Amino acid sequence: MTTLVIAEHDNASLKPATLNAVTAAAKIGGDIHVLIAGSGAQAAADAAAQVAGVTKVLLADAPAFAEGLAENVAEQVLAVAGGNQYSHLLFTATAYGKNIAPRVAAKLDVAQVSDIIAVESPDTFQRPIYAGNAIATVQSADPVKVITVRTTAFDGAAATGGSGTVETLSAVGDAGKAAFVGREVAKSDRPELTAAKAVVSGGRGMGNADNFKLLEPLADKLGAAMGASRAAVDAGYAPNDWQVGQTGKIVAPQLYVAIGISGAIQHLAGMKDSKVIVAINKDAEAPIFGVADYGLVADLFTAVPELVQAL
Ligand code: FAD
Repeated sequence: MTTLVIAEHDNASLKPATLNAVTAAAKIGGDIHVLIAGSGAQAAADAAAQVAGVTKVLLADAPAFAEGLAENVAEQVLAVAGGNQYSHLLFTATAYGKNIAPRVAAKLDVAQVSDIIAVESPDTFQRPIYAGNAIATVQSADPVKVITVRTTAFDGAAATGGSGTVETLSAVGDAGKAAFVGREVAKSDRPELTAAKAVVSGGRGMGNADNFKLLEPLADKLGAAMGASRAAVDAGYAPNDWQVGQTGKIVAPQLYVAIGISGAIQHLAGMKDSKVIVAINKDAEAPIFGVADYGLVADLFTAVPELVQAL
């Protein structure tokens, strides 16, 4: 039994989500190999070889992988794993992994197991359904299990301590189905939302985009990423990529501060696994208080500046 983890990386280093996927692989058992499909990605491969528990790294290095186009990476995964030599193919349940895994599962004619949060045995996994209101236990009878891993559900494997070997593969060519045109990346001095240790999120209660700026000093004090509810995003108070929840990003930071957010289940689906949840809401009946470790029933326009002051 050998698991292949398809690494998410930037050619120079591994994305933290890859370390979470390695932990899920360790829970499955057996050997753990990591595929680095990249361009000029020797450093990422070397980093993967250091990860505790990884025994082998497969490096497919070609210009076609420079931008992580799913069409090309999927072909490489199939070239490596098409012969059923791997019992499990693990992808991160991120935009990257979720773009590649279904292509691989379809070509292998197996049923993908999506967004697992626990490994019960090598063929049985838990995954949330109905926005996290129920947990399904699913058993796969397929010879190869194609799985996406909810990264917030698994601690990251140690980035060092491993002694895997790096094997260079002949890379498949460009699949010719997609071309990289450009990328517009939102620039921020703050940590990336899904990787941040603290997140300060605002909701419709912020009232408008200007008021949203009230949260910035708090985020500064806490070294936090900024997040938002969908209502706040839809109203134009905050950019789309800040949205936390079922249809936004799933986060599980050490500290999540929800301000002027009611706590609809679709929002909770994206943050309720946070280690410590703080809520500020003027409505004592707001459902957010049902998941909050610390709740403050107060007007946010008074409480937030006071909190910043106190910090
Ligand atoms: P509201 O529910 O309007 O709550 C605002 C809160 O602010 C209230 O509790 C109010 O008491 C408080 N407040 C107001 N003024 C103040 C003040 N001065 N001081 C303190 N508190 C104040 N939502 C998400 O967030 N993420 C998702 O990914 C998501 N996906 C969805 C997917 C689907 C299919 C559907 C149907 C909905 C989804 N939603 C999602 C929307 C979700 O149902 C809620 O509508 C949304 O989360 C509400 O956002 P909110 O809490 O900011 O707004």
